[in-house]
Amino acid sequence: MGYSKINKKDFNHFVKILGEENILYKKGLEEFSKDHTEDLKYLPEIVLFPKNTNQVSSVVKYCNNKLIPITPSAALTGLSGGALPFHGGVSLSLKKMNKIIDVNPKNFQAIIEPGLINEEFQNEIEKHGLFYPPDPASKGSCTIGGNISLNAGGPRAVKYGVTSNFVRREVSAGLVRQRRRQHNKNAERMHAPAHATTSLLFRLAWHACLCSRGVPTTLPLTWFC
Ligand SMILES: Cc1cc2nc3c(=O)[nH]c(=O)nc-3n(C[C@H](O)[C@H](O)[C@H](O)COP(=O)(O)OP(=O)(O)OC[C@H]3O[C@@H](n4cnc5c(N)ncnc54)[C@H](O)[C@@H]3O)c2cc1C
Repeated sequence: MGYSKINKKDFNHFVKILGEENILYKKGLEEFSKDHTEDLKYLPEIVLFPKNTNQVSSVVKYCNNKLIPITPSAALTGLSGGALPFHGGVSLSLKKMNKIIDVNPKNFQAIIEPGLINEEFQNEIEKHGLFYPPDPASKGSCTIGGNISLNAGGPRAVKYGVTSNFVRREVSAGLVRQRRRQHNKNAERMHAPAHATTSLLFRLAWHACLCSRGVPTTLPLTWFC
């Protein structure tokens, strides 16, 4: 299938949705052409920084109609080239969607946006006496959205599990819908497709299952939700 190239009309449309300050066009694109994967480089035609679900939804709808490829990106610390715009088109950076919407210590759940940095999330919920275990070595810069997409883990995975063990629900734009809890415990684990590029799913907010330190960890963590 042939994809469309981005032209001035498309740019003007994106300006209407996002404002010029949330767009990189013609310059500043280089940074978004690579992640930490060795020797791979693909230049996007435009980089868009949505700040809310409606903006993501509008961009996805427009690009879908015009056959413009979209590649989601976040902190670009990935080691498998997933955030690289192989087909050009839009690099959709979720970096500016980085808010913590709610932390609920009573049910061990939080609602957050996907561009939130892993370590910032960990530090914030500790203030509520909670603990979010997935700790990739890149935690100071990688985002929870990127962690979900690549199912990241770190040293604590041995004891507590990896990202997919903690994600309860995600909201996807483009399709804007919520996945519901399943009865099957395995199905509850929201392992996200690594290639969101092709699936056009954009995780915008989700409930992360948290645990408090001291909880017996031989039990599946999903039991605490
Ligand atoms: C020094 C260093 C140490 C690392 N240590 C570890 C480690 O210990 N464990 C580990 O597992 N990994 C590690 N990594 C790899 C990397 O940090 C993780 O895979 C991390 O999850 C990537 O997150 P990111 O925000 O940088 O995502 P990006 O690299 O920007 O994107 C990664 C993937 O996620 C997709 N994506 C990002 N945001 C969204 C979204 N909102 N919706 C849909 N798709 C999205 C992108 O399209 C891409 O496919 C390390 C990397 C470095 C450079």
